[in-house]
Amino acid sequence: MRVDIVPVGEVDPVVKREASNGLRAIYDCEVSVSDARAVPESAHDADREQYRAEEFIDLAKRVGRGTKNIAITPEDLYYHRRNYVFGLAYLSGSGSVISTYRLRTSSDGGFSDRSAGEIFSDRVRKEVVHEIGHTFGLEHCDNNRCVMNFSPTVREVDVKEERLCGSCQRDAL
Ligand SMILES: [Zn+2]
Ligand SMILES: [Zn+2]
Repeated sequence: MRVDIVPVGEVDPVVKREASNGLRAIYDCEVSVSDARAVPESAHDADREQYRAEEFIDLAKRVGRGTKNIAITPEDLYYHRRNYVFGLAYLSGSGSVISTYRLRTSSDGGFSDRSAGEIFSDRVRKEVVHEIGHTFGLEHCDNNRCVMNFSPTVREVDVKEERLCGSCQRDAL
């Protein structure tokens, strides 16, 4: 089983590395990184100055070489009525996406005394593990320490751990 990371736009090498490490640590999978793709301008909403997340999922599905594929982008994403999303995936689908745009903020998180760089890296790993979890059929988990807990703000991302709880672990793969 392979998970392919599809960078969309200018993705920091640190982000690609952290995403790969996070996925390898949690799932029994190989991880590859595709060539970077241009940001799909058709996904841009000029009024919102944001991008539609679904189109990034479609792109990952189309160009990714893995059984599961995850687009990673620095652009700001939204989905339907949600003002923004850190990521999106369809349950048991083959494509998914995360955005690093809002993961650098410290304003509404920050219970940690780790450096800003480490906190950002932690969030990247948690979000890729979370979205790929959905592609493995996992839904949101009520356990707020579980990586499958729903995290609408970085605060919840910081609270949760980088791994699946026992129950999600049993349901994955
Ligand atoms: Zn989710
Ligand atoms: Zn769980």
